[in-house]
Amino acid sequence: MSPSKRRAYRAPSAAQRARYAKRRAGRMSRADNDLTPAEWEAILLAWGEACAYCGRGASALQKDCVQPLSRGGRYTRDNVVPACRSCNASKSNDEVTAWMRRKGLDERAFLLRWAQFQRTATASAGSVSPRA
Ligand SMILES: [Zn+2]
Repeated sequence: MSPSKRRAYRAPSAAQRARYAKRRAGRMSRADNDLTPAEWEAILLAWGEACAYCGRGASALQKDCVQPLSRGGRYTRDNVVPACRSCNASKSNDEVTAWMRRKGLDERAFLLRWAQFQRTATASAGSVSPRA
């Protein structure tokens, strides 16, 4: 067996590595942009333009993923709720119900409202293929 066979594999060049990184970044931003501005408006209205978790009205509500990105959640209409800066920062990557319990927030009321919103959103959007 000739030793040259072992050299068939070549490590990716710097340019190739850069291309891979760019492709990865593209995937991430596509996931982020899955939620359209119109969908975000609808979400804000559905929650009365208040924080979904503590109910406080805030001028600058942030998009919060109920299922955090780190746990497979995505920026989609089914997964994003408005959150005040304080809730968003506090919840971070925590599992939502565990976090709400810890904060003494009403997780049952939240889950009911969230389920309600998803039902109405799906009904008004007509045929929507379910997202995994
Ligand atoms: Zn809040």
